[in-house]
Amino acid sequence: MNIALIAHDKKKESIIRFAKKHYDILSKHDLFATGTTGMRIADEANLKVTRFQSGPLGGDQQIGARIAAEDMQMVIFFRDPLTAQPHEPDITALLRLCDVHQIPVATNQTGAEIMVKALNHKDFQWKNIIEENRNQE
Ligand code: PGA
Repeated sequence: MNIALIAHDKKKESIIRFAKKHYDILSKHDLFATGTTGMRIADEANLKVTRFQSGPLGGDQQIGARIAAEDMQMVIFFRDPLTAQPHEPDITALLRLCDVHQIPVATNQTGAEIMVKALNHKDFQWKNIIEENRNQE
């Protein structure tokens, strides 16, 4: 499954802790990330990550393009709700595309923990759930 990982600057340490903690689950999947998040997860959590541009330079939009192409099945986004982001329109667009395409998205650590643990349940057929929900619309 293709999973996108993004963290705003004040949440970088948290996403690295998260990636280390869930290494066994995450390492079974294809990981994608915005530039700096991806570099740090690869270096510090030792996970293989395909990196897009840094978020403010278009990385969120690149992830959005993969969602629009139905080539991304989960988004884990550690947002910083207390700091204005220069690329807020890109973030809004990314979250909108998750909703358009029924892609599960967590925007904080608790949601991410629950999603990753569910991911590890063999009988939890993510792709089928996404398809079912798309077909209901
Ligand atoms: P970054 O981008 O991983 O390149 O820092 C994340 C973001 O701010 O959207």
